[in-house]
Amino acid sequence: MQPPLAPIVLISGPSGSGKSTLIAEAIKRSPRQLHLAVSLTTRNKRPNEIEGVHYHFCSREEFEKAIANDELLEYAIVHRVHYYGTPKKEVDPFREKGIGVILDIDVQGFTQVHPKYPDLYSIFITTPPGEYERRLRARDSDEEEIQRRLKTAEAEFSFASRYNELLINDDVDRATKVLVDRIEELFQARGFHAR
Ligand code: ADP
Ligand code: 5GP
Repeated sequence: MQPPLAPIVLISGPSGSGKSTLIAEAIKRSPRQLHLAVSLTTRNKRPNEIEGVHYHFCSREEFEKAIANDELLEYAIVHRVHYYGTPKKEVDPFREKGIGVILDIDVQGFTQVHPKYPDLYSIFITTPPGEYERRLRARDSDEEEIQRRLKTAEAEFSFASRYNELLINDDVDRATKVLVDRIEELFQARGFHAR
């Protein structure tokens, strides 16, 4: 008998809302095997980022080649300048092995992936009011980049109601617990034994 297909969870939210933090914590704390799909991007690597772990960093030409070869499940231009996309090979092969897949992608990616995966569970992560800009500044010092991200965030908020769940990242522990519990429910709903 075929093992059940592990869940796919799509997470969006403004840059700086805490997506990476909550996903990393959930992967650590969840009793399930989870895979965060590694996206392809043309943006510059941040000093703390590792090629192949946080992203596959590539040139515009390489990205356009991946599009032409139909290697991407979805792709978008985020923050007006950078290409981001999810390689197909980051999703189905993991789910088939019982490994839950998490996508950390923007609202444009959500609108592309949603129709392809009817069983997708989507979560929009946001911050308590006022917190957003403070966190963004704590991480990035490039003012032009910060302004671009604030503009993108405004547009993204208008999509929040299309997601299955809105998660307010007021406290890392609390929000991680919500995420881990939800993932566990999704596994059990698909026929996996309780853990
Ligand atoms: P994203 O992946 O959405 O861009 P990050 O996870 O990189 O966001 O978080 C942005 C910044 O906010 C980081 O410095 C992170 O440590 C901090 N942060 C995340 N969650 C919280 C929280 N609940 N309270 C305070 N700071 C947080
Ligand atoms: P960052 O530059 O902060 O890592 O990410 C910027 C934005 O790009 C975030 O909103 C993130 O969710 C989104 N993103 C990351 N990877 C992908 C991807 O593969 N596809 C899409 N559509 N968005 C992505």
